[in-house]
Amino acid sequence: MISSWSLAAEALRTWGDEVLVPAIEATQAEDAPLVPGDAQCQWCPVRGVHRDFTCPARARWVLESDPSPEEDLSTLFDAPVSDLRGHYEGFLQPVDADRLLQFLERVEVLAADLRHALYQAAASGVDLPGRKLVRGRPGNRSWTDAARVALYASKSLRLRKGVIYKDVLRTPAQIQREVDAGTWRKLEKFVTRPDGKLMLVRADDKRPAVEVDNIFSEDSSND
Ligand code: SF4
Repeated sequence: MISSWSLAAEALRTWGDEVLVPAIEATQAEDAPLVPGDAQCQWCPVRGVHRDFTCPARARWVLESDPSPEEDLSTLFDAPVSDLRGHYEGFLQPVDADRLLQFLERVEVLAADLRHALYQAAASGVDLPGRKLVRGRPGNRSWTDAARVALYASKSLRLRKGVIYKDVLRTPAQIQREVDAGTWRKLEKFVTRPDGKLMLVRADDKRPAVEVDNIFSEDSSND
């Protein structure tokens, strides 16, 4: 989602001269401070780098953003759990859950960057104690020469066309790109599109909240 607003050209030039350019120049200083944060670090090219594995300032900031620095994180789960489904009381309070999830989401991103940086290091020949490179499952099979296979299968092996080829209706998006607007309007009535899946996001996300009663009620009635 792109945010936009209007301002006078002169105000933009002034902001560029007085705020943007000095800020850019300040980052070039030898002793420029590293200021981690979700917004800036997400675009930073040194989030995960081969040599240093990850930006130390960001790693420290993520690990210090522990939502309960005064106590062991596991104490958030001290209360007895009787039935997790739909019962928050006595389990993890939603406000704690939000703080814990924010922390874990940052750790997740940090872990992905670190994994990427370590992969690059290992792929460059760096020996990493406790880690090694292995090959995953082989990719899907494909024909080395599709035209030759088609000819061989039909002429020499006499395989039916239906065995070798598959006719597939192209998707709405693919057909829309090929036809004029009038033709597309006649086809459009046959198009259906499922709703997007429900996603749990931060409360400051710009998308409007969805009102739901209880999407699990149908499941529970079948128990
Ligand atoms: S990753 Fe490090 S250098 Fe990059 S923006 Fe974050 S704190 Fe600054």
